[in-house]
Order: sequence, then C-alpha cells, then structure tokens
Amino acid sequence: MGGYILPLRDEYVTDDRPPHAICHPCKEDGRLSVLTETEYRYVCPSCQYTAGKKPSPRFNRRRGGRVVHPGLS
Ligand SMILES: [Zn+2]
Repeated sequence: MGGYILPLRDEYVTDDRPPHAICHPCKEDGRLSVLTETEYRYVCPSCQYTAGKKPSPRFNRRRGGRVVHPGLS
C-alpha cells in the first residue's frame, strides 16, 4: 500500500517483546522507533513516517484522495 516497514522477525519475538514494526527512516538514522499501529496505517511517533496498511474509506472521499492527518502536524 505504498509504505515500507520492518516487521520484527519471528526469532526475536518473545513474551516480553511482542511483534511490532520498526520505522525504516528512523532505522536509517540509527534509531529504533516502534511504529504505532492503527487499523489503517503504521505511524512513527518520532519522525511522523506513515506506512499504509490498507485503504482508508474515511480519507479517500475528500481532497482528491490526499490523506490528511489531524493532530500530526
Ligand atoms: Zn521514524
């Protein structure tokens, strides 16, 4: 869906560390930021990087399909 994330590999998943996705741009900068997962997308709380999971019917109708992120400016 036009985003790139780094899912945690299965061998690193433990009871104390459930599966999560790492922000790719932050990783390139040497940081390990865990993406916040929502129903439709992953959002990085550090750099605001967003990766879509599936189309959001809430955002596709307006503004020519441009996705607006209220509260993330
Ligand atoms: Zn990031």
